[in-house]
Amino acid sequence: MADEKSLNFLEEIIENDLKAGKYQSISTRFPPEPNGYLHLGHAKSIVLNFGLALKYGGKTNLRFDDTNPVTEETEYVESIKGDVKWLGFEWANEFYASDYFDQLYDFAVNLINKGLAYVDDSTSEEIAAQKGTPTIPGTNNIYRNRSVQENLQLFADMKAGKYPDGSKVLRAKINMSHINMLMRDPVIYRIKHAHHHRTGDTWCVYPMYDFAHGQSDSIEKITHSICTLEFVPHRELYDWCIENLEIYPSKQYEFARLNMTYTMMSKRKLLQLVNDKHVNGWDDPRMPTLSGVRRRGYTPEAIRDFCDRIGVAKRENLIDISLLEFCVREHLNKKADRRMVVFDPLKVVITNYPEGKTEVLSGENNPEDHTSVRPLPFGRELYIEQDDFMEVPPKKYFRLSPGQMVRLKSAYIIKCEGVVKDSSGKVTELHCTYIPESKSGSDVSGINVKGVIHWVSIADALPIEVRLYDRLFVTEDLNAIEDDFTNHLNPESLTVKTVYAEPELKNSKEGEHFQFLRMGYFCKDPDSTPTNLVFNRTATLRDMWAKEMKK
Ligand code: ATP
Ligand code: MG
Repeated sequence: MADEKSLNFLEEIIENDLKAGKYQSISTRFPPEPNGYLHLGHAKSIVLNFGLALKYGGKTNLRFDDTNPVTEETEYVESIKGDVKWLGFEWANEFYASDYFDQLYDFAVNLINKGLAYVDDSTSEEIAAQKGTPTIPGTNNIYRNRSVQENLQLFADMKAGKYPDGSKVLRAKINMSHINMLMRDPVIYRIKHAHHHRTGDTWCVYPMYDFAHGQSDSIEKITHSICTLEFVPHRELYDWCIENLEIYPSKQYEFARLNMTYTMMSKRKLLQLVNDKHVNGWDDPRMPTLSGVRRRGYTPEAIRDFCDRIGVAKRENLIDISLLEFCVREHLNKKADRRMVVFDPLKVVITNYPEGKTEVLSGENNPEDHTSVRPLPFGRELYIEQDDFMEVPPKKYFRLSPGQMVRLKSAYIIKCEGVVKDSSGKVTELHCTYIPESKSGSDVSGINVKGVIHWVSIADALPIEVRLYDRLFVTEDLNAIEDDFTNHLNPESLTVKTVYAEPELKNSKEGEHFQFLRMGYFCKDPDSTPTNLVFNRTATLRDMWAKEMKK
């Protein structure tokens, strides 16, 4: 049966183009500026660009849009490559806009020769003032009439380093009263005496975004150049450059950027969070960066699933972060091994279990796979959660209370026979008996209990550090705020706790995923040492926020 999922608007365009024979195959590109770490918004763009090429048998280039020498760094290039690979994609070519500097310079000379570009000595303030407004046309200045010869010479001198930053620019000569402000003689080259991470000090003139992006697309013969909606007004200039340079006709298409509730998705602002130490670096598990969510324990499968589910929109919207968390749980439920970890311990003594005896039970790693098991030591003294005992239980409380029975997961049924209290009346210890015939897997006790709780053997318990994360921001729509976004940070986004784990966790690997039974999904953090294992909470088992809403 054919794929019944309806096509998104980009797929429709591509299918029509292919049907019409406009292209033999398609080419897309993912064009990050290497000035920061990729975030979930970029993941959307990656999944889209690579996904379309995969679906239609085309190819995708990874192109670093490195035309701004000041903010770009090699560190970012490496992290971006790692993130794209981690998401599961392979690029056909690794390109850099800076590889095209010679070609772009020649393109600019070509425009000058055609009388379509001129060197302007105005200051940026003068240029802004002459631009007019959306309702008032701009004005032509005296530099606009410079001869081709003069422009060629001046541009060559700009390149040769004869002029300081900001003293001259090269502008496209289009129309100072164009209805689209971007078409009012846009600046296409500027002087910047700065060291570039790849070309070093070779250049002191650099092309502007609008004179680099479309041209790079064209050089690479990109058929469908997909970008976010803020570039809609740029499309006219994109087409103008290609048309007047008479180069390969790449086409630009725009979709709505991914915005998510409680999430800041701007590299610049994420950088500020790092620099001002609101978080512990780019890969802090609270960050929406791919390095952050990876460390948190999100999987590439879950992120790709999320991107597929949200589809491709033509209008700005705000996606509920719970949907991403849902996708993460869905995948981890299948993938993560189960372990038992007690967060708030209450001691249990099994009074009829022989002193000094221990036995090794076996626990399933995943309820869907009965063959994969782990050893689970059991003894006379155990920890259970404080929450799993109530001295005076309400109706329908199926966990432990005096005289009540409960099953210890993968072990035995126990019955609470008595409690020990401290001087303040707080229960500090439970005395229980166990039913030897009720062993999980070979239960012949005939007893049915409703409650099943997790536990660890005290003699074997492994103290571990857990880092419990909540949302980094308390405000749902961060695009709608007017004050400083750091006012909206959640002061309780991180809680660190020492808890008691079954010993098998000693054998875990960095980055490995687990479900701590009833407590959530966790992932082993690289901060772990042999004596202090650290686990990040990836997600709670259920949507805690949804529960809050219903209360
Ligand atoms: P930021 O605003 O966070 O700095 P950017 O757009 O400047 O992001 P680039 O490195 O230029 O970052 O982006 C590379 C590609 O990723 C571009 O095609 C851009 O449109 C796309 N992209 C960036 N943010 C998002 C987003 N939130 N949703 C979808 N695509 C995005
Ligand atoms: Mg950008």
